[in-house]
Amino acid sequence: MKIICVGRNYSEHIHEMNNVASEEPVIFFKPETALLKNNAPFYYPSFSKDVHYEAELVIRINREGKNIEERFSHKYYDELGVGIDFTARDLQKKAQEKGLPWALAKGFNGSAPISGFVPKSKFEDIYALNFSLKQNGELKQHGNSSMMIHSIDKIVSYISKFITLKNGDYIYTGTPSGVGPVKIGDLLEVFLEKEKMLECAVK
Ligand code: MG
Repeated sequence: MKIICVGRNYSEHIHEMNNVASEEPVIFFKPETALLKNNAPFYYPSFSKDVHYEAELVIRINREGKNIEERFSHKYYDELGVGIDFTARDLQKKAQEKGLPWALAKGFNGSAPISGFVPKSKFEDIYALNFSLKQNGELKQHGNSSMMIHSIDKIVSYISKFITLKNGDYIYTGTPSGVGPVKIGDLLEVFLEKEKMLECAVK
């Protein structure tokens, strides 16, 4: 099982990070040990002083595929959920300044809380899906899948040119603007449309 993540996929988030949009999707990984399921709490790591939340739509791959044409991408996932891409922003900045990989800043233990999944057929249009994150009850992020720079189908197709997708793989599709730091004692809640899908206490 792989956890594949897309960076810089919403232009307002690119602006808030002072990053530049790229023509091709920005891809990185988290290891399986990053997953937090069943609303498990997140334990703030000792190696960072600046862990940020990033709420994201997540798809689950349901069959093996490589070199998938974009028009067939939709056949390779039938469920959607939400997740948090926890990022040790201080480690990430340090790595970026030196031109080094972000692996540890993004892939540490517990850095990928994930919700349960619902069939995509439940939604009229997966390209007009609202999702949001509340921190201690306050709305911090609101995104809509229509705001993605690279669509889900494009992402699936693009990744599969390089890496074979397999049943059970997760793809985190990027975060909208409004990211920010978490602190011990926080409660994060992530919603898909009106439904609360994920809760994560920071301990
Ligand atoms: Mg992210």
